[in-house]
Amino acid sequence: MTSAPIEVEAHLAEVLAAVRPLAPVRVPLANALGRVLAADVVADTRVPAVDNSSMDGYAVRRADVAEASAHAPADLLVVAEVAAGSPLDPTLAPGQAARIMTGAPVPSDADAVVPVEDTAEYRSGDGWVTSGARVRVTTAPAAGAFVRRAGSDLTPGSIVLAAGARLTPYRVGAAAAAGVGAVDVFPAPRVAVIATGDELVEPGVPTRRGQLADSNSALLRGVVSDAGGELVAAIRVGDDPAEFLTALDELTSPAGPPGPPGTTGATAAAAAPDVIICTGGVSVGAHDVVKAALAPGGRVAFRRVSMQPGKPQAFGRLESGALCFGLPGNPVSVAVSFEVFVRPALQAMQGLEPAGPPRTEAIAATGWRTPPGRRQYMPIVFDGDGRIRPATAGGSGSHLAGGLARAEGFAIVPADTDEVRAGESLPVMLVAS
Ligand code: AMP
Ligand code: MG
Repeated sequence: MTSAPIEVEAHLAEVLAAVRPLAPVRVPLANALGRVLAADVVADTRVPAVDNSSMDGYAVRRADVAEASAHAPADLLVVAEVAAGSPLDPTLAPGQAARIMTGAPVPSDADAVVPVEDTAEYRSGDGWVTSGARVRVTTAPAAGAFVRRAGSDLTPGSIVLAAGARLTPYRVGAAAAAGVGAVDVFPAPRVAVIATGDELVEPGVPTRRGQLADSNSALLRGVVSDAGGELVAAIRVGDDPAEFLTALDELTSPAGPPGPPGTTGATAAAAAPDVIICTGGVSVGAHDVVKAALAPGGRVAFRRVSMQPGKPQAFGRLESGALCFGLPGNPVSVAVSFEVFVRPALQAMQGLEPAGPPRTEAIAATGWRTPPGRRQYMPIVFDGDGRIRPATAGGSGSHLAGGLARAEGFAIVPADTDEVRAGESLPVMLVAS
């Protein structure tokens, strides 16, 4: 006997109830890209650390050049030279200047920088006046001209990045600028993929009648990585429950999955998955291997969810502690199920809001029929004017792996309708580009 279908929200709630953020780890900044911060990154120094020049020119005492102009230039004696990285703080008496380079500390006695272009001796290429010579200033600088103030970017105690932020390239750069060498992050959830089906072959291998290329593994590799996960194993098994259970055992045993050649026991154990995503074999067919293997143990629940595609769903926690998702086999179902159930779980494991993919609202440019009683996720493309239409000529066919290539998102059509009309506004889940 099968029970009544459950709502998407009910199944998602069951998934999220089983998920906890992973224990934070400290990683060098070089390994932090894409991770989510478990603690604030706080500046402990001023950035810039000292007043420094934003131009190549001369550090001056402004009182000496306050009246300078092309008609009445001010001549100063150049007594020092300060390059970027120089620790020097030369004394400047009235009438004296220091030659200075971009990024170099401004001498404490100076209160403005005159760019080399605003001095009479400037000639492109070799306009520099060096120590011992006089420089002719032809423009009066404003107070603090071309001086980048210490602390103008960051001050001690200021929060550079807040806990919960995903480390984008710019954010990693900001942490580095603050002088931070290592950060506390949620580790990448370790994910293993098991594609099931006697019909599957490695992409690129010629198929005989009845076979097809395993495209789910290729798709899942990408979305797992996009969602911040680390793929630790991807295997394919036939429709034999014993073979499936052996593969599952190998993945979750203390020795972990077979790592790359040369992997030691310790490394392999470290790679034991937090999450296992199976595809295919969860429905009511005669050879539904995942169901045949896992339903009897009772740890994994097999559900029918009121959605299209993606109706059969399995989820549970295995004895090893790994979360196990059983997604339906069709590629569009895999994509939708991942976005609706797996991505939120991976987000929660990384301390993020389990919000799924980004969403927007868009107007349907054309109508289409939808199954009544089930929420539909229709692969869509955007028109030039931001309106949406189905991405696949064959409609919502869940086998249309090729058509999925065009999809820029999935329109979410409520269950209580059998038709989308042109002009209707729909929520859209955006997919990784
Ligand atoms: P199943 O749920 O196992 O009956 O699979 C449903 C459909 O998805 C069948 O047409 C399978 O051939 C197809 N399918 C299952 N796994 C994959 C895969 N890894 N790549 C592409 N198609 C698949
Ligand atoms: Mg199958």
